[in-house]
Amino acid sequence: MTELRVLVVGAGLAGVLLARRLQDAGAEAVLIGTATDSPTGGYRDATAASGGLVRAFEPEPAARALAAASLAELRGDPGLAAEAGWRRTGSLYLLDPDTVAGGGVGAGAGAAAVDAEVLTAAEAARRFGVDGLPEHAVGIWERRAGHVVPDRLRRAVLAGLTRTEAVPMARLDGDTVELRDGRRLAGDLVVVAAGAWTPGLLRAAGLATCLRTKHIQYAHHAVRRADLPSFVDETSGLYGRPAGPGRFLLGLPSSRWDVDPAAPAPDAELAARVRAVAALRLPGLDPRPVGPPVSAADCYSEPPGLALRAVSGTVHTFTGGSGGAAKTALAASRRAASALLDHPSSVGVPTG
Ligand SMILES: Cc1cc2nc3c(=O)[nH]c(=O)nc-3n(C[C@H](O)[C@H](O)[C@H](O)COP(=O)(O)OP(=O)(O)OC[C@H]3O[C@@H](n4cnc5c(N)ncnc54)[C@H](O)[C@@H]3O)c2cc1C
Repeated sequence: MTELRVLVVGAGLAGVLLARRLQDAGAEAVLIGTATDSPTGGYRDATAASGGLVRAFEPEPAARALAAASLAELRGDPGLAAEAGWRRTGSLYLLDPDTVAGGGVGAGAGAAAVDAEVLTAAEAARRFGVDGLPEHAVGIWERRAGHVVPDRLRRAVLAGLTRTEAVPMARLDGDTVELRDGRRLAGDLVVVAAGAWTPGLLRAAGLATCLRTKHIQYAHHAVRRADLPSFVDETSGLYGRPAGPGRFLLGLPSSRWDVDPAAPAPDAELAARVRAVAALRLPGLDPRPVGPPVSAADCYSEPPGLALRAVSGTVHTFTGGSGGAAKTALAASRRAASALLDHPSSVGVPTG
């Protein structure tokens, strides 16, 4: 059994799952900042704001492998599924095959790899009432996909951790973390898993990073149609999922970069565009917003995706979910923990 002591900074979904994997493997994982995600903390982190759409299909093969493994773990463990608030809705992923490596063949092979059905634009229109798709668009239909409540999963995992430190990190100093109450903790490794706060924390420690924060916004809408599954329409950017009787969550990607993660301002223009695009793509949906939009931020990386990245010496990051880590976090945390335990001095992709 290893004696490795790893300080994990940030109690979002990424941090708690990484700490859990390390703990399960016999390492000493200390999760730092567990009080910052409390509902009274005054802001929503990405885990609390997340729409929680999970599916196996992703156009990019590496992301697809992680998403498929995460969904398989979730569906294969009823206790985990209950903790995560798993709901099966099916998922329709609409895309232009030219944007996938290998074109239509790549999209088809990707669908086959996750046991999904490939639909033509006309079939997607007929089965799901999607309108105005480009003629050569395809739909990837996954019956077994759905959504989770990432915040519920976070809280359940947190409850099972043996070493947590409620006080957030004030400063990173090599292999030492200074807490906001002045205490200093040392570890063999430090992993900053502070989501959209990560780039700022690294820069404050004098460490270069390519990680960036980006705004994400969606709203709940009262809708007339009850027959829609979870969907992503890459041809228009629109995405959504059922959100209870007569309710649907709808969003479009934001283009606001480098926002303040604690308080990203809602974007009224983006909210109006969601309604306009939804009216075109999903006639009969008649989406009327219910309450204000959910406005939050996530940490974006290039290539995108939640992964362990080496920063310098003993410091790594485990973030970069790029708006999609709810669906990959189970497998990505398992992979990151094994990399840390197997090769503690030389793991991760340098962030530059
Ligand atoms: C609005 C929105 C909708 C989304 N929808 C989906 C979806 O439908 N499907 C999907 O797969 N993904 C979705 N995502 C993405 C996914 O939810 C995120 O990628 C994932 O939750 C990121 O988790 P995280 O732990 O990296 O970051 P976070 O959840 O942001 O957690 C970071 C934590 O670090 C803490 N922290 C910050 N500073 C410090 C410090 N100094 N010391 C200690 N702790 C600190 C913060 O308080 C926070 O709790 C969505 C994201 C957003 C924002």
